[in-house]
Amino acid sequence: MHIGGFQKNSLIDFPGTIACVVFTQGCNFICPYCHNPDLVVSPSKKTGDLYDEKEIFQFLEKRKGFLEGVVITGGEPTLQTDLTLFCEKIKQMGYRVKLDSNGTRPETVAKLLNNQLVDFISMDIKTSIENYNFVISRKFDTDKIVKSIQLLIEKAPAYEFRTTCSRPFVNQEIMRDIGEMIKGASKYILQKCSRKIVALDPEFLKSDDNFFSDKQMFELKNIIDEYVVSSVVR
Ligand code: SF4
Repeated sequence: MHIGGFQKNSLIDFPGTIACVVFTQGCNFICPYCHNPDLVVSPSKKTGDLYDEKEIFQFLEKRKGFLEGVVITGGEPTLQTDLTLFCEKIKQMGYRVKLDSNGTRPETVAKLLNNQLVDFISMDIKTSIENYNFVISRKFDTDKIVKSIQLLIEKAPAYEFRTTCSRPFVNQEIMRDIGEMIKGASKYILQKCSRKIVALDPEFLKSDDNFFSDKQMFELKNIIDEYVVSSVVR
């Protein structure tokens, strides 16, 4: 595993679970609002050290009985070739596992689900399928996004879909398209895009047009509520 960051405690990243957070290095997307730009660059190009996996397992061994779960986020965790083995080791220690993913590797998600190696999956829906080309750094088959959505709805023990709401990736029409993509989903999170961040593309933060007001966020929520069981604005 290429691990670019590690947080020892979190009460907010894994619903109902006291967890630590492992940040994997490298992502195949280039969302301009990404607030973890250091984690987007590929492991080979990263300057500075990566975390040693052994130290994380030593930490987990010591925290048994205090911590309940491990969140694996990124970057994009499914790009890690040994993710399945990593989750297997964590599960063997008795921890619950939450995976955050952009949904580009449904094969990996399926493997984790089939082997009961993940308890909760949070998947980003960036925009409507037609607009995904604006956020990816290399060509990929957008059917994979649709496959990942189906997998979560049909097989995940618990899941949520979430969208960072900013223009031009989201508008009312796109929110309807997203609704059609995830129709029947149990939970959807609308994340307000913050300007108080370090972003992958600093220019993105400069334009007022890219951001929604609270009122506009709730208008988007009203739209998605026609498609999902529950939704939350954050
Ligand atoms: S916000 Fe986008 S670029 Fe950043 S880690 Fe997530 S998918 Fe990758």
